[in-house]
Amino acid sequence: MSDIVIAGLGSAGYAALASIKRRNPKISITVIDSKESDLVHPCGLPYSLEGSVDPSDLSQDIGLARMGVTKIRGSLIALDAERRSIRVDSGGEERGVPYSLLLLSLGSVPVIPPLEGLHAILGNRAFTLHSIGDLEAIRKCRETSKRCVIVGAGAIGLETATALSRTLDDVRVLEMQGQVLPGVMDEEIARVVEEYIASMGINVELNARVTGISPHDGGISIATSAGAIRSDFSVISTGFAANIAALRDSGLRCNQNGIEVDRHLHTSAEGIYAAGDCISGWSVIDGAPLKAKLATSAYKQGTVAGMNAAGGSMEYRGSSGTFVTRISGLEVAGTGYTTEGAKRQGFRPQSGKIKSSILPEYFPDNRAITIKIIADSATGRILGAQAVGEGGAAERINLLSAAVEMGMTLEQLGRVEMAYCPAVSEVYDPVMRAADFAARRIKP
Ligand SMILES: Cc1cc2nc3c(=O)[nH]c(=O)nc-3n(C[C@H](O)[C@H](O)[C@H](O)COP(=O)(O)OP(=O)(O)OC[C@H]3O[C@@H](n4cnc5c(N)ncnc54)[C@H](O)[C@@H]3O)c2cc1C
Repeated sequence: MSDIVIAGLGSAGYAALASIKRRNPKISITVIDSKESDLVHPCGLPYSLEGSVDPSDLSQDIGLARMGVTKIRGSLIALDAERRSIRVDSGGEERGVPYSLLLLSLGSVPVIPPLEGLHAILGNRAFTLHSIGDLEAIRKCRETSKRCVIVGAGAIGLETATALSRTLDDVRVLEMQGQVLPGVMDEEIARVVEEYIASMGINVELNARVTGISPHDGGISIATSAGAIRSDFSVISTGFAANIAALRDSGLRCNQNGIEVDRHLHTSAEGIYAAGDCISGWSVIDGAPLKAKLATSAYKQGTVAGMNAAGGSMEYRGSSGTFVTRISGLEVAGTGYTTEGAKRQGFRPQSGKIKSSILPEYFPDNRAITIKIIADSATGRILGAQAVGEGGAAERINLLSAAVEMGMTLEQLGRVEMAYCPAVSEVYDPVMRAADFAARRIKP
């Protein structure tokens, strides 16, 4: 019996493995995962769809045997926490695998909305984008198609739309809320993204609720609140949920966001840790439940859970939900709470927004960036930020992510000196100017 069994080798599982090996190389590890290759990189799927990345480069073998790690190719299908054993299905053959310590890093599954007719055409004319298999199915369907409808205008929906617009004549995005990137961007910043997408010839329809999808004349017909839309195929991009179906009868405490864990990422069952998309995460700002499922959080959680499973004592403080996406030439990034999110959490948010060039005005090849910083008017604490531009958005949001993580105030951020050279940046960076605007609105 291995000392530690890791179920699921994605971002979290891999980070856990590296963390355990770093702390104590002598610990024996078994990895359970059904993938043919050791790792698959899901974040690269939309970029492979657009043709920037060869699909075969998304799979990677990391030499588990060479590392002394045992791999069982199969899926965890049940957990008996009292007996410290899991059931694993390897291509139809079931077996019990005992463990001393278990680390669950099972990832997430796409949310399939309850749309009339959808199940009958899933995998045929309607797809999700979550695996290499999904990517291949979409690529195949695209070969004989001219039109596609993306349901959901989150980051992955928009990346998918951009990718498909390179080869299809008619790409539409249907979003039931009144803006793109709902929940992660303020409406006024989302408008900048919407205008950019529209300039690419992609039709984004907001407040468009899809109620059903059915086969029609060799393609599909999508029933929406605004009438029927004909298309050739659809990609459903309506979010992800923790992959915890196999744990249903285990007694492990779970809620609708995933497996419940403490700050050491220990679950409700003795000897079981969990990390990544399968856990119920929380905000680093105030500890409130956070639905965001991101590779960066998964990696950090895997590091913490692995370290603790190997005998260490490390805490995970929560996630800032920091993300970036690239929509064609546009970088879109955010961290922490949106204005609405902050209000829901009981803060009194105030903000500063600026649209500015990245370089001094006299410099050629300049690019514009829009930055918004949100702070609590009672304390000046930075609660979130968003940036959109043809470059430079992610690096600025990373700085603001550190501010959110450390609980910095606008005044403390103002003390930070940023690197300057006219070929790279402004002497007084747009971040600082946005922070000044926010601070001026928060008068003591
Ligand atoms: C198209 C797409 C684009 C994305 N882009 C970004 C991005 O740009 N930035 C970002 O931060 N995040 C992005 N994400 C989210 C990111 O991929 C996830 O947050 C991250 O992979 C979560 O890591 P994880 O280890 O929890 O899960 P995963 O990486 O999904 O790994 C879970 C592993 O568990 C295995 N598994 C599943 N069920 C079982 C079972 N029953 N038994 C054993 N093994 C099992 C799976 O095979 C998989 O290898 C994207 C996701 C998708 C789908």
